[in-house]
Formats: sequence, C-alpha cells, structure tokens
Amino acid sequence: MSTALIVGAGPVGAVCALALQQQGIVARVLEAQPEAARADSRTLALSHGSQLILERLGVWKMLQDVTPITRIHISQRGALGVARLSAEDVNVPALGYVLPYATLTVALKQALAESKIAVEYGVAVTRIDSDAAAATLHADDGRSHTAPLVIVADGGRGLSVSAAPEPKLQRDYEQMAVVCEVQTELPHANQAYERFTPQGPAALLPKGDRYALVWTASHADAERIAAMDDAEFLAALYRHFGGRQGLFVAASPRKVFPLKLAYIGSQAADRVVRIGNAAQTLHPVSGQGFNIGLRDAWELASLCGDTVPAALGSAAMLNAYARGRRVDVLGGVGFTDFLVRVFSNDIAPVRHARGLGLLALELCPPLKNFVARRMIFGARG
Ligand SMILES: Cc1cc2nc3c(=O)[nH]c(=O)nc-3n(C[C@H](O)[C@H](O)[C@H](O)COP(=O)(O)OP(=O)(O)OC[C@H]3O[C@@H](n4cnc5c(N)ncnc54)[C@H](O)[C@@H]3O)c2cc1C
Repeated sequence: MSTALIVGAGPVGAVCALALQQQGIVARVLEAQPEAARADSRTLALSHGSQLILERLGVWKMLQDVTPITRIHISQRGALGVARLSAEDVNVPALGYVLPYATLTVALKQALAESKIAVEYGVAVTRIDSDAAAATLHADDGRSHTAPLVIVADGGRGLSVSAAPEPKLQRDYEQMAVVCEVQTELPHANQAYERFTPQGPAALLPKGDRYALVWTASHADAERIAAMDDAEFLAALYRHFGGRQGLFVAASPRKVFPLKLAYIGSQAADRVVRIGNAAQTLHPVSGQGFNIGLRDAWELASLCGDTVPAALGSAAMLNAYARGRRVDVLGGVGFTDFLVRVFSNDIAPVRHARGLGLLALELCPPLKNFVARRMIFGARG
C-alpha cells in the first residue's frame, strides 16, 4: 500500500487523511498540538458542498451544534440595493452551516481514531527536504520520516520547505476582524447577513440561538471596538449594522485577528504539496477560504486514488493537481478580493454601481442562482 505523510491535523489535514484512506492510501499525520489541546473559539461557515464531503467521510453525522443557513441577506450601508439568497432558489436544504471550529476538530479527531489512521500528536515538523525521489520530514522530537508524497496542511504557519517558491499574490487589507457571539432581540430564523460598509464587510451568521459576528474594520478601529465595554459595543454594533434584527442585547468577549490575502499555490517542492490555508489564506467575506481548503483535500485524495502507486507524489501527479485546482482556487481568491476592494469604499459612483449590482442580483434569478452556486460549490459549481 502507498503511504502519504500529512503535516497538520487541522480540518483540512484530517479530511485529507480520511479521504485518502477511502482511496486505499495509508496516511500518517503529524500534529504539533497535543491530543488533549482544546481548539480556540472561532466559528466556521461550511458550504453545502463541504457538508457533502463530510457526509461522504461519515463525519457529518457525528457533528452536533450545527446551525443551517437557509437565507442570506446582502446589503450595503447608506445606499440602496439589497439582495436575498435562499436555499429554495438553488434547491438545496441549506446554503451553508455554521459550527464551532472546536466541534469540527473534535469529530475529525474521533473519526481519525476510529479509522485507525496514525496521528502523532505533539510532534511539530520543523523542516522538509525533498528531491525527485522522496520527501523527508524532520520533526522536533529528533526523528525523520520519508515518503513519496508529503502533504502540508499546517494552516500556513511558514514551515520551511526546501526550494519553496515565493507567494504568488499577497495583499494586506489593513483590516482586522472583530469576532464574538451576539444575541439579538429577534430570533435569527436561520438567516445570515452580509453587510458591506466603507470600513469593511460585517457578517452575522446564525449559530445556535445566537449570531456569530465577524466585523471587519481598520486596525485602529478594530482595536478600539474590541476594547469597548458591552453596552458601548452593543450600541456601536447597532449603529453599524442597523435594526433588521432589533436591538443587540448581549455579546461574548471580543477577539481580533488580522486579515490578509496570501495565495501561495499548491506547488511547494518535489514530492511536496500544500493544501488548505497552507496554500491560500483568504479574507473571511463570503466564507470561501475554509471551503476551498476542504475541496483541496478532497480533490487531492481523489487524484491520489486515480494515480498508480509508483507515480504517487510524482511531478506529473502534482502538476495535474495544481492544474485541476486552478479554476476553483483562483475563482475564490478573485471573488473574495473583488468583494473586499469594491465594497470597502465610499466613492459615490462606485456606491451607486454596487446598489445596481445588488438590485440586479435580487431581480435576476439566473444571476442569483449563479452566485448561490458559487458560494456552495466554488468556481466550478
Ligand atoms: C485567528 C483565526 C480566526 C479565524 N476565524 C475564522 C472564522 O471566524 N471563520 C472562518 O470561516 N474562518 C476563520 N479562520 C480561518 C479558518 O480557521 C481556516 O480557514 C481553517 O482553519 C483552515 O484549516 P487548515 O486545516 O488549513 O488550517 P488550521 O485550522 O490552521 O490547521 C493547521 C493544523 O496544523 C498544525 N500545525 C501547524 N504547524 C505544524 C507543524 N510545523 N507541524 C505539525 N503540525 C503543525 C496546527 O497545530 C493545526 O492543527 C480563522 C483563522 C485564524 C488564524
């Protein structure tokens, strides 16, 4: 049986290991965090397409705490134009699902254990050397591991890979995301909001009986917003977001994280391929990045299954993988970057054009269908 080594048991690395096993390929995973480590409190928005991947891996049924999104309301502050997408428009049960990162990682950990996939927790890979014949991982416990294919799913932590190319595209949006959970006066009824403002997009995602908030702002504004006390924060959020959900009545502690675009691409070196956030880190607007990462994992495993064992990790296979992912990944990078740059300004003609764009989206079913399908299945939907 062929073997592949995976760096990182985050959602993307874990999904890849499970999908490889379904293809008859043995995966061994090295994960820097100890097995008992608790994941942080971030929230993930899974598309319907990602849900189908998790279902095929038997992970979906293990997930609790999942909230479906059946409608998305898109608007811009201070100008006309509203668009509404609904699951019925595209004939799917939900446009997406919201769940805690911790819920997903716990279920994936359990699935890896039940599938008897070898995961070494608490072992960080420090360097990867590779040539045309094989790749070797060097770990911080002093051991080395060699395989015909190494899959880097380290979330883009900057692992040193011999002959790694420079990122192909980088953009610092000079924005940060303020994230927390908020309670609104009115129940969410499974509706998500994406609201574009000149300072950056803000999203409310239904999560349990609350909303997960992602509020993007300049560095200085984000620090100021995160430092507000609850009453001040709730009032500021109401001014920023408007009253569609009534008042904001409670909020959990706020956290901030920086937002950037880094498109590195899947090619790392001979016998080494990057997937998930290790290959591309996107702005969270429209929730593309994480779902692209799951598709990376799924498509790579499928290709490995279609490759004769002697060619696993070969240049021909890795080139075919990069070619196959190009449209989906660059489509997601371009779509996200377009939304952030076109919607994060207050230039009057652009504002009016955006309003017309939202109106067209609202009134034109084929356009609505196109946008909804790209959010669900990616650029090849
Ligand atoms: C602070 C923060 C907040 C975020 N919030 C949101 C959000 O609200 N909504 C959203 O949709 N997305 C969010 N994201 C993005 C989302 O978390 C990623 O898209 C998703 O986690 C990518 O999955 P991944 O498996 O590629 O990487 P990760 O989830 O980062 O997993 C990488 C794994 O690799 C391990 N690892 C790293 N280096 C090594 C090494 N050298 N050796 C061995 N193991 C290693 C790590 O311990 C980790 O388990 C956030 C990201 C960050 C950084």
